[in-house]
Amino acid sequence: MRNLYIHVPLALKKHDLAGRVGVISMDEKVNPYKNAQKQFDKAAALMDIDKNLLVRLRKTNFELEVNFPVRMDNGDVRMFTGYRVQHRFRSPTKGGIRYAPFVDLDEIKALAFLMTWKCTVAGLPFSGAKGGVACDPSKLSKGELERLTRRYTEEMRHVFHPKLDVPAPDMGTNGEVMGWIMDTYSFLEGQRQEVAEVVTGKPIELGGIEGRIEATGRGVARITELAWTHYYGDTLSGKTVAVQGFGNVGSISAKQLHEMGCKVVAVSDVNGTIYNVNGLDIPAVLAHGAKERTVAGYGNADALGVKDVLEVPVDILVPAALENLLIKENAPRIKARMVVEGANAPTTLDAENHLLSKGTIIVPDILANAGGVTVSYFEWAQDIQAQAWEEKHVYDELNTYMTRAFERVKNAAEKHKTDLRTGAYVLAIDKVASYVNKRGLFP
Ligand code: NAD
Repeated sequence: MRNLYIHVPLALKKHDLAGRVGVISMDEKVNPYKNAQKQFDKAAALMDIDKNLLVRLRKTNFELEVNFPVRMDNGDVRMFTGYRVQHRFRSPTKGGIRYAPFVDLDEIKALAFLMTWKCTVAGLPFSGAKGGVACDPSKLSKGELERLTRRYTEEMRHVFHPKLDVPAPDMGTNGEVMGWIMDTYSFLEGQRQEVAEVVTGKPIELGGIEGRIEATGRGVARITELAWTHYYGDTLSGKTVAVQGFGNVGSISAKQLHEMGCKVVAVSDVNGTIYNVNGLDIPAVLAHGAKERTVAGYGNADALGVKDVLEVPVDILVPAALENLLIKENAPRIKARMVVEGANAPTTLDAENHLLSKGTIIVPDILANAGGVTVSYFEWAQDIQAQAWEEKHVYDELNTYMTRAFERVKNAAEKHKTDLRTGAYVLAIDKVASYVNKRGLFP
């Protein structure tokens, strides 16, 4: 079988921004946008809904591709390609910016499309967007990264806007990058004061919110608890967990689940999997990771291959790395009774069908990892109102939003006798269609 190189973070190197190179099988080379549309279609088929509304919701409606120059440290000028896509039915649109070598228009379209449904499932007054620049941030100096970010922001100056399109971090970007975006946008707008609410995920000093860094992982853990209790009638105490990816989402998910009483037996990153059948000491793994920038080499565990994390015998598997890693080929070997998607689109349609057919509960990305955008919403609202939320308030509200989202998705799935992903889409399509219908069609 031929292999195709794509995106796997090289453990956090320069400025904690990860470049990604990895391997997936050619057979699994799927168009992520078409994949997402198929999931939409599966849900739409269960609904009694005007096809003229569906046709409007099925496509992204703004796609911008720009090529722009950046001066490198050695004096050369390099051209970079950047994107911003909106799936816009109400404003603002919301979604992260991804810096990675593999970024292309279809991937950004898919992620923008997913953001609409994720925001709607979470009950946020946003529709979806996503942006990206095709680059390997681990190979750029800090100065190059800053110049690239500022130029990309200039290219997007008529797209980004606090009431129209609000970006955030995603893979390969972080708070520092968001700070540069905020500063550049404010400068270009000729503002005498900063426009903090044009971007979320900023450093606290620049109007960021307490708890944003932990938000996605905390949301994943909360949803895991709700789903496990509902479907298996039991607490999380002693349940075995494997987590794929030990970046922002994976490490915080592992930490939270460990604190909630789970036995986290395996975690992985791009360098390998560590496995201890008696449970890993997650605080010690976090300390090792902070020092070594990888989980590999952690002492009190067996070292397994990168992909093995998916196949260890556990109750719960949390993929929290990249797209398309649970595939047709490995799905038969996945033993977990529940898969909670911390990553966006980690499961291909073939793999999903296989897992559902053997009774695995899949908690979909648009529910499971919605904690990040939910706290981004709090940050945006906090900045507009010139307030500063306390951390406890952020986490209490996050819990409320996640719990409500889970209840609604679960109810939709049960009402339509379908899986959770389809239930989530049904719920979200119904809400968005109703909004669009009430506004009517111009002209
Ligand atoms: P990150 O860059 O912080 O971490 C990614 C981790 O995955 C790293 O530990 C890396 O080594 C590991 N990894 C990469 N390829 C791997 C592979 N093949 N096998 C095992 N591990 C591998 O990224 P992140 O912010 O944690 O995002 C992870 C996923 O979650 C992405 O799909 C992202 O879009 C999604 N997501 C992130 C957020 C957020 O708030 N950060 C919110 C929602 C969704």
